[in-house]
Amino acid sequence: HAKMAGGNCIHFFQAQMQASAQARHRMETDLREALHKQQFSLAYQPQVDHTGKLLSAEVLIRWQHPQRGWVSPAEFIPMAEESTLILEIGAWVMNSAMAQLRQWGDAGLLPPGFGLAINVSPRQFQQADFVHVVQQALQGLADPRQVMLEITEGMLVVDTDRAVERMNVLRDLGVQFHIDDFGTGYSSMAYLKRLPVDVIKIDQSFVRDMVENPADTAIVKAMLAVADSFNMEVIAEGVETAEQVHRLGDMGCHIFQGYYFSRPITAAEFAARYFGQ
Ligand code: C2E
Ligand code: MG
Ligand code: MG
Ligand code: MG
Repeated sequence: HAKMAGGNCIHFFQAQMQASAQARHRMETDLREALHKQQFSLAYQPQVDHTGKLLSAEVLIRWQHPQRGWVSPAEFIPMAEESTLILEIGAWVMNSAMAQLRQWGDAGLLPPGFGLAINVSPRQFQQADFVHVVQQALQGLADPRQVMLEITEGMLVVDTDRAVERMNVLRDLGVQFHIDDFGTGYSSMAYLKRLPVDVIKIDQSFVRDMVENPADTAIVKAMLAVADSFNMEVIAEGVETAEQVHRLGDMGCHIFQGYYFSRPITAAEFAARYFGQ
């Protein structure tokens, strides 16, 4: 009996593996097509102070699949990350975001100090010519300080020395670094002191649970204290209520991003709402 069950098990797993390999292959084909058929677009979500005044914005990729409709980046970015497709998608995001910045800049719309935060995936950050990719994208931009790169803790623990070196090169070019989803990674806070980082973004899971859970409040307080001692700014992600804004403000967090202020919106909507276009 055991032998038979084992055999069935193997067949089951083989079938499953085949199905997931097929799904992955399908996704890859679709993503490659998406790049060539211009199915990607960018959304912009404001990062504001407690009054709602615009400070910067995060760039978020959107994909309109011809059959499936809108597909979440939480679904397709991890898939793209499994192949070199993420490099092409990442370069597309970077170049498109810069083009948008240039266009707004040329039209004289950008408030002083405004910049865009661009998500960079681990594989992208680790590619050999990443510095070159960024440098190229910066060409023609009024000020490289308009560009912030959001990276995650995970990509810093693999080879921290190399990561720091790379970050320093980019920082010398004027690019700033934000640590995304802070607190959800497996690394300790100690590595922070070695990193040329300007901002940490408190993950939305802490912001969401803070009001009900004293433990999350304690964690957020600890993060704010650490950021303060390293002279880093803090952005709270996923802010959805006035109460969260209030509490975070009391604890010393002054930059917010979340549905309470605005969902991610198109470039045209963004310009209409924030640049009076
Ligand atoms: P992330 O970088 O942490 O981005 C924040 C996510 O939280 C976005 O989801 C945003 O729409 C969502 N969000 C913002 N405010 C709120 C809120 O108040 N409540 C809730 N529930 N959610 C909020 P989105 O756009 O679906 O992106 C998901 C993830 O996909 C991003 O998480 C990021 O890891 C990845 N991603 C998105 N765009 C890119 C990209 O251009 N390149 C790379 N490499 N990754 C990207
Ligand atoms: Mg992000
Ligand atoms: Mg995040
Ligand atoms: Mg996230």
